[in-house]
Order: sequence, then structure tokens, then C-alpha cells
Amino acid sequence: MWNFIMINENFKCEKCNFSVKKDDLWWVRNHCPNCLFSKHLDENFPWDRLSKCFWLMEAIWIDFKKNKWFMIKHKCLKCEKEILNKLAKDDNMDIYNNLNKKNF
Ligand SMILES: [Zn+2]
Ligand SMILES: [Zn+2]
Repeated sequence: MWNFIMINENFKCEKCNFSVKKDDLWWVRNHCPNCLFSKHLDENFPWDRLSKCFWLMEAIWIDFKKNKWFMIKHKCLKCEKEILNKLAKDDNMDIYNNLNKKNF
């Protein structure tokens, strides 16, 4: 269940089993568009791949930054590290709406 399957950057979500396709336009694709879960691979910056944790990260917060884009905050379920990422255009907006209802 905890195997992270990497095939050219396509991967299978460990939370909901959704098959995530790599997206050339959205290089920051590091979370599942279906459940928005990510994996703790980055330590200091998105995509630095320096973490040794490899645990699941839950989307806890999403916000819209002026002139930028929707930002999503992931929190590791194991070490509680928080990392900001960009939301992709095909991410599940129901989860976005639910998160905002919960937090605001
Ligand atoms: Zn998922
Ligand atoms: Zn972690």
C-alpha cells in the first residue's frame, strides 16, 4: 500500500489509488488531483526531493494569492512538516470548497 509507483513521472495515488498522469504544462504536479493528497518528498522547497520521510501529506489549506495562483498547503501525517505548492488546474475543486468551509 505504501509503494510509490513512479513511471516516467506518472504515479498512482497511495491514498485513493487514482492514476495520476504527468502533465507537461504543470510541472509542479506532486499531488493527487482527485483527493489532493501528496507525499513527503521535499524538505525545503517544492521539488527539491531532499526529504527522507516519504509519508502521505494531507491538503490542509488552500488560498488564492493575488496575481499568482491558488496555493495549496500540505501537512505530513507523520512528521507534520508543512509545504506550500501550486494547485493544478484539474485538481478537485470540491475539496477546495470543503477546506474553505472548514477553515474560514
Ligand atoms: Zn488521491
Ligand atoms: Zn514527513
